[in-house]
Amino acid sequence: RSKMDGRGTWRFFEPAMDASLQSRRALEIDLREAMDKQEFALFYQPIYDLRRDRISGFEALLRWQHPNRGFVPPDQFIPLAEEIGLIAPLGEWVLNRACEQAANWPDELKIAVNVSASQFRDPKFADVIANAIDASALSPHRLELEITESVLLGNSSETIATLHELKARGLRIALDDFGTGYSSLSYLRSFPFDKIKIDQSFVRDATATKGSKLIVRAITSLGRSLGMTTTAEGVETVEQLNQMKAEGCNEAQGFLFSRPVPATELASTILSLRNGLKERDRSRALAS
Ligand code: C2E
Ligand code: MG
Ligand code: MG
Ligand code: MG
Repeated sequence: RSKMDGRGTWRFFEPAMDASLQSRRALEIDLREAMDKQEFALFYQPIYDLRRDRISGFEALLRWQHPNRGFVPPDQFIPLAEEIGLIAPLGEWVLNRACEQAANWPDELKIAVNVSASQFRDPKFADVIANAIDASALSPHRLELEITESVLLGNSSETIATLHELKARGLRIALDDFGTGYSSLSYLRSFPFDKIKIDQSFVRDATATKGSKLIVRAITSLGRSLGMTTTAEGVETVEQLNQMKAEGCNEAQGFLFSRPVPATELASTILSLRNGLKERDRSRALAS
């Protein structure tokens, strides 16, 4: 019940703190076992190409289905996995699985995989990527890595070198959650990203708040000037979709199109999206 503090003296935790520490420990133990017990799964969310009017690919989103805890969201266990050194094997599993599944899809569909900062900084990361591509025989240009600005914090030459190496191998690199980190603009200068994903907080507000609308406009025009694709995240309503189209976004992703679905529902998602959008166009045409 006691722990050495920074000065090397023993102190006692408050009971409340002890309880939260215990529940964290329990989560940690479960997380360490989750891989062996095959409690992880990848769900996929379509990314919609607004110019070509079709799905351009899917983003892989990690899911942890615990027998008692139920579904644990990634925001709750990925930071923990990073802290306790589990992100490397977990991230490797995600990459292998995503590439393996995407290799069975039609060639025009890309797969986007999220990569966390510590995963990316691992010296073995380039090998992990190479292995995933070799084992699945997925064409590298169909694999897109989504990194956040936190990967670029410090702007180290190793990070930039790794990014260039991956790009030289044919992979595409997307900057995720754009606009929520720090000094975003200098990061755009340090590396030629293929894509900027506009954070859903701006997309959500863009129809109501002038500031957010102008931010979306600025990001899309920046992306256009720099030759990068812009993707709006978290599009939930037709109104938001129309706004994003009006601002010149290239792609959109969100519950309006589809929630993330298990691999078994990919085909039906593609189909219903095709029919659903046609249906919506038809009803709009009838209404006007
Ligand atoms: P992200 O990469 O920005 O993923 C988008 C998140 O927004 C996903 O949450 C997705 O389910 C959610 N989302 C999509 N459309 C909508 C919408 O219309 N409305 C709302 N409210 N939400 C929407 P999810 O799956 O809970 O993932 C959260 C974050 O966890 C991800 O954010 C990503 O940073 C991280 N993550 C997920 N899978 C992985 C993984 O395999 N590896 C790593 N390192 N991180 C992952
Ligand atoms: Mg992402
Ligand atoms: Mg995002
Ligand atoms: Mg996010």
